[in-house]
Amino acid sequence: TYQVHIIGGGLAGSEAAWQLAQAGIRVRLSEMRGVEGTPAHQTDSLAELVCSNSFRSDDADGNAVGLLHQEMRALGSVIMAQADIHRVPAGSALAVDRDGYAEGVTRALAEHPNVTLVRERVDTLPAGPAIIATGPLTAAPLAAAIQAETGSDALAFFDAIAPIVHRDSIDMDVAWFQSRWNKGEGHDYINCPLDREQYAAFRQALLDGEKGEFKEWEKNTPYFEGCMPIEVMASRGLDTLRYGPMKPVGLDDPRTGRWPHAVVQLRQDNALGTLWNMVGFQTKLKHAEQVRVFRTIPGLERAEFARLGGLHRNTFINAPRLLDGTLRLRSAPHVRFAGQITGCEGYVESAAVGLLAGRFLAAELRGEAPTVPPAETALGALLGHITGGADARDYQPMNVNFGLFPPVDGKVRKSERKAAMVARARSALAAWAA
Ligand code: FAD
Repeated sequence: TYQVHIIGGGLAGSEAAWQLAQAGIRVRLSEMRGVEGTPAHQTDSLAELVCSNSFRSDDADGNAVGLLHQEMRALGSVIMAQADIHRVPAGSALAVDRDGYAEGVTRALAEHPNVTLVRERVDTLPAGPAIIATGPLTAAPLAAAIQAETGSDALAFFDAIAPIVHRDSIDMDVAWFQSRWNKGEGHDYINCPLDREQYAAFRQALLDGEKGEFKEWEKNTPYFEGCMPIEVMASRGLDTLRYGPMKPVGLDDPRTGRWPHAVVQLRQDNALGTLWNMVGFQTKLKHAEQVRVFRTIPGLERAEFARLGGLHRNTFINAPRLLDGTLRLRSAPHVRFAGQITGCEGYVESAAVGLLAGRFLAAELRGEAPTVPPAETALGALLGHITGGADARDYQPMNVNFGLFPPVDGKVRKSERKAAMVARARSALAAWAA
């Protein structure tokens, strides 16, 4: 007999199971590998790293993901504990011996008296308290069951990620606020103007830039209308972009009083207004190429990117719309979601959301009201984004980054803001954990 059912033994499911088991709750952890594989996993180990062996920066003072590591360690994360044990040299990054690490996680859970690890594929939503953590490659029958519960438009099968820019890195002497034809509030977009030569050079750079490849099993990724990579659209003709995402009509450059030849529009991406996404700029360009090419856009010469563009097979729900503040499905609150299927991105983020889902459910089963981590912490910033901070109209996967944190008091000098955010996060986490 078990009290909680966790579906998916990846990064998120393993961490959620550990948190619950450590809280004295009996867990059934269902993992299909061992019975049925995924296109990306190579082993039957829990929490396998499907690609890179890096948990990214471990610098808790200067990097949001490093801060997230630190917060997870403080809350007894099994993923972080095993990553630390199996660490390999990688400068300031946390990289691991992938087999040792995954075997360590598997052993920790398999040997835990409160965990029953079952190798099985689950095809329906559970009837009792549960966490669904089946990840970007969720098996098709369960994906269909989730769709039946949430509506077909609430579950995506691939992402179309446009780059996101930190608002304070945009040069507003060049760019300006305006919505097309001054419709709506009149201030919905930030516009970056390109003249004829700049546009032609920019288009050429998109065509020439080095692209990432689709994986063999991703090759039939459909381009839905409106989700075509920007470079594919550029290849269709000299002016295709000017009739698409770079359309200048109805946008008056305050410096000339006229419509520019082309524009790049950015739309506010989070409730705080700190992050802005480049509308229509989903791309397979390599990350370094994106930084190089997009910084040629007038107004974005010094852009700092919170996220770069991409396009991958990726199963994820519209979490801001479907989930409540503690990751429960609004329409079926006995079910929580965790990991990349909630629209976070990355190993560490997936495990972090698993950690939170596990703790929330443990609190609930003890008869307590779960409290969410403060928005000033890395955990809280990430959770807040998933459960409401992000724009539900165009919800796309996101890594943890300082743009998700509430801004610090404007009187703090720019060079000291990160340090102020980190210090604020540490005291907020300590208060919450206590
Ligand atoms: P997973 O770790 O995928 O775990 C989900 C688990 O659920 C799997 O073990 C799966 O077998 C199981 N499962 C699925 N459906 C069912 C079912 N119906 N019943 C039972 N079990 C089921 N992130 C990075 O940070 N760095 C990278 O380099 C990186 N590379 C990636 C490469 C690829 C090809 C992909 C797809 C993703 C990559 N990611 C990367 C993104 C992401 O961080 C990882 O996918 C991460 O593993 C997500 O954690 P998760 O727990 O949500 O899902």
